[in-house]
Amino acid sequence: MSSDGPTIRSLESEDRRFPPPDDFAASAVATAELYDRAAADPEAFWLEQAREILDWYTPPTVACDAANPPFFKWFTDGVLNASVNCLDRHLAARGDRVAFHWEGEPGERLDITYRDLHERVCRLANGLRARGIGKGDRVAIYLGMVPEAVVAILACARIGAPHTVVFGGFSPDSLRDRIIDCGCTALITADGSWRAGKVIPLKRNADAALESCPDVHTSVVVRRTESEIAWSEGRDVWYHELVADQPAECDPERMAAEDPLYILYTSGSTGKPKGILHTTGGYLTGVAATHRWCFDLKDDDVYWCAADVGWVTGHSYIVYGPLANGATSVLYEGAPSTPDKDRWWSIVARYGVTILYCAPTAIRSFMKWGTEYPERHDLSSIRLLGTVGEPINPEAWIWYRTHIGGERVPVVDTWWQTETGQIMISPLPGVTTLKPGSATRPLPGITADVVDARGESVPLGQGGYLVLRRPWPAMLRTLYGDDERYVDTYWSTYEGMYLAGDGARRDDDGDYWLLGRIDDVMNVSGHRLSTIEIESALVDHPLVAEAAVVGRADATTGQAIAAFVTLKGHATGDESIIAELRQHVATKIGAIARPKSIVLTDDLPKTRSGKIMRRLLRDISENRQLGDVTTLANEEVVQEIAGMAESARSSEGS
Ligand code: ATP
Ligand code: MG
Repeated sequence: MSSDGPTIRSLESEDRRFPPPDDFAASAVATAELYDRAAADPEAFWLEQAREILDWYTPPTVACDAANPPFFKWFTDGVLNASVNCLDRHLAARGDRVAFHWEGEPGERLDITYRDLHERVCRLANGLRARGIGKGDRVAIYLGMVPEAVVAILACARIGAPHTVVFGGFSPDSLRDRIIDCGCTALITADGSWRAGKVIPLKRNADAALESCPDVHTSVVVRRTESEIAWSEGRDVWYHELVADQPAECDPERMAAEDPLYILYTSGSTGKPKGILHTTGGYLTGVAATHRWCFDLKDDDVYWCAADVGWVTGHSYIVYGPLANGATSVLYEGAPSTPDKDRWWSIVARYGVTILYCAPTAIRSFMKWGTEYPERHDLSSIRLLGTVGEPINPEAWIWYRTHIGGERVPVVDTWWQTETGQIMISPLPGVTTLKPGSATRPLPGITADVVDARGESVPLGQGGYLVLRRPWPAMLRTLYGDDERYVDTYWSTYEGMYLAGDGARRDDDGDYWLLGRIDDVMNVSGHRLSTIEIESALVDHPLVAEAAVVGRADATTGQAIAAFVTLKGHATGDESIIAELRQHVATKIGAIARPKSIVLTDDLPKTRSGKIMRRLLRDISENRQLGDVTTLANEEVVQEIAGMAESARSSEGS
């Protein structure tokens, strides 16, 4: 990080306000009193949450153990099992309640109750034990969005075997690297998975990966697409055969609160993915509590987190949080455009989804496709919307609230990371006055700050570096096998503060606005500018669906602003639109922010989790060889943009 400019300059001013609807506020799960209770004694507050929300074999009596910072521990004398908290304890009162309405991409539908899920998890857990897998063994999971993915995760948790879920869209090399990095001895995969009408050959990819993973002695294969596959006798075993004769009960492993629950690699937006280690008691407390608060979870809700289980959002808010809370969720296997671009909205209408949680990248796709798709369906069941993954442009927020939320419902913009495990900065929907584009406040029990290069809090209204000032229960414990990188990456910049790696600004009310990654901050004529505000100014133009902005080396200004813009619908752009967009930014937030070049493109380079990879756009803009592309989802687009950027450079304005 540079130590010159102490802050990031912020240009945006967004003054739309949305207080909670009266009826929503009147019956809200989380009320303002939580903030006070937590502030009075954050550790006692979290301990109380842990004991109240979870079932323990031995309830913890201590909150945070800070004897050896930054290796914090939580609830160390507690003993529990995560799968028991997600399943067994619901059986008596709500065994017949649907845990998941699952929908396959080709159209199959399956309702899985808590009792069904418990039985499936027990059978697989027994099957894994029969293959010699037990407490402490690492198991890789490489599946699509099928019920077996959830079952596999919980079966691992039941026997105390830390799982590492690898997103089903990753290549054999990415899978191999992750298996080797965390020393897995078993893999759970499938013959294939459905995505946009095509089969992703999971087993074939897995076989290629396993060629370099001799320690993997068991590969469990779910039959999903009936694809032809190779078979390695002895190593490979069909899932349905493995579980067939197993008992429907399985004695859960008693886990210490600090025993590992899973390892998950970050999205890799900034570089080489990091193996984030989460443990059991603190993690489960953090995700269960925040799932209730942020989504105002009630007994009759139908909740849909449309992320993939391969990302932390799936771990925390498809699997562990909702199941610990006994919620009814939707699980959808495939692409949002299959068979048509209204697939999500047909699902919302079919199951009466009340809460929808998704990423800004999805919302921007919907904006690009047009309102006709949501308009085909009755979305009136929706009462709350959420987003996560990137800063949300105010116009995308408004679009989401208007066209999906019927202009009535709260939208919670939730900031958090694979590392934080749980949502950290987010509105409480029954309490907080919403501002489009702002994640608003740290949740009860969370202490954040915005600091300058010296680690001093910056005044309200200014931008700086987002830090967390106190440990929190679901925090990462280390980077798997690399304590040094853990300390270096997060704890060495400032004494006693966790460096999130994101820029942020607090407005005059103290609300947080995320400004994107520190690495993406630009330096234009001595002003340190964040990308998100310029992108949001572009998305504010009625023709624009999505925009990415990067700084590229410039002889006169240090860096010049290079923008990449995707237009809505079938709009095609020309020089006059480019001129208009440049002017629009200048008018909206100031001449300093006027992009020097704009390239119109059908798509932007994204990680497989859908996040814009600005570092690749920087490479393209500066005509450099591309950096690490292993997490890049859409390679074609990069080539295409590179060609267009080249011609833009030769004809750019001033
Ligand atoms: P890597 O760390 O490997 O580069 P990544 O940071 O993309 O990958 P994740 O942990 O999935 O991996 O993403 C967390 C990041 O996503 C945050 O640090 C932030 O940059 C961004 N983010 C998540 N939610 C929000 C949000 N609501 N507003 C703004 N940014 C967000
Ligand atoms: Mg990150």
